[in-house]
Amino acid sequence: MEKTAPITRSLLTWFRNDARDLPWRRTRDPYAIWISEVMLQQTQVKTVIPYWERWMKALPTIESLARARSQRLHKLWEGLGYYSRVRNLQKAARVIMERHKGRFPERFEEVLALPGVGRYTAGAICSIAFNQATPVLDGNVTRVLARLFCVRQDPRARGTRERLWTLAGTLVRQAAGEPPGAGDSRGSAGPGRTGPCSALNQALMELGALVCVPRNPKCGLCPVSTFCQARAKGLADRLPRRARSVQAIKRRQFAFVVERNGRFLVRRRDETGVNARLWEFPSCDVSSAAEPQEIAQATLGTRPRRLKRLATLSHSITRYRIRLEVYRVGEWDPAGTKAASGRWLTPEQMRRLPFTAAHSRIVRRLQARKRNLGR
Ligand code: SF4
Repeated sequence: MEKTAPITRSLLTWFRNDARDLPWRRTRDPYAIWISEVMLQQTQVKTVIPYWERWMKALPTIESLARARSQRLHKLWEGLGYYSRVRNLQKAARVIMERHKGRFPERFEEVLALPGVGRYTAGAICSIAFNQATPVLDGNVTRVLARLFCVRQDPRARGTRERLWTLAGTLVRQAAGEPPGAGDSRGSAGPGRTGPCSALNQALMELGALVCVPRNPKCGLCPVSTFCQARAKGLADRLPRRARSVQAIKRRQFAFVVERNGRFLVRRRDETGVNARLWEFPSCDVSSAAEPQEIAQATLGTRPRRLKRLATLSHSITRYRIRLEVYRVGEWDPAGTKAASGRWLTPEQMRRLPFTAAHSRIVRRLQARKRNLGR
């Protein structure tokens, strides 16, 4: 077993002195911490801050989340992607209301049993909110530990993963034995006192986010550089072992902007699948040879006499690189269209609904155009 006590102490001291003053670090409310942890999955801190602040203002309690309308939740989440996360948040809030009388559970197993909560999130909530010695292991922490302890094997392999969890557990248990105050965060009017288990886990996350970054780690600024085995062996930049990069898949889509008396045809996506329940303009995946006139007829149920390209937008969903061609439909015959399955809304009404990220860019353009015309 590696000697971890000096590493733990160095991390606690570093966190006490250098922790960023983030809004969710000013509270010990498990609900607020849970929301921040879920938002931070796949998303950077600076992006999450305004989302989290808006969310906590709109839905400050577990009860308010449990009761919120799905459309409101999706609007608050609009732009963060991976919308199953927000649906799981509500399912879990309802479980807490029913099974735990509205009080966030404190036992690790009970937190882990909530919908959408995995080992990492349960560990983060229990350590940060309740100062329990529960480890965390996300991408950042994996990188720090793989370098610190020179773990050369693939961190995605089951055995290696378990070894990393064990190392993370050793460090946080070590922190639990530190004197009270070892994790007090300096930051504050706000962050307040943080227990050592909370501080240790957050120090690992913070180190991975700011110092032990994927490329060109800033070893000169690192509080544990003297203990770092990968650095000593000149392997810092090469660990953890990277997966072969997944080939991006190109996709082409058409979207059609149909206007009637200042209102636009939009529809809600299905209950399941990517971007479930979000709003969008009529659209579909097309082949590289597809002609917009034919696709418009198939999508809208009527062949427009005129189509004008409004924009071409590029965006990504997981491994897909999508080129979205947006056409404005002119001189079309509304009779016999498939418009019945959608709704006709003004740009202002659309702004109140949760749209997919790419289509909310179209809404913003329509709004800007309307403002310009109004001048
Ligand atoms: S010394 Fe460098 S590689 Fe090692 S943990 Fe610190 S930043 Fe990461």
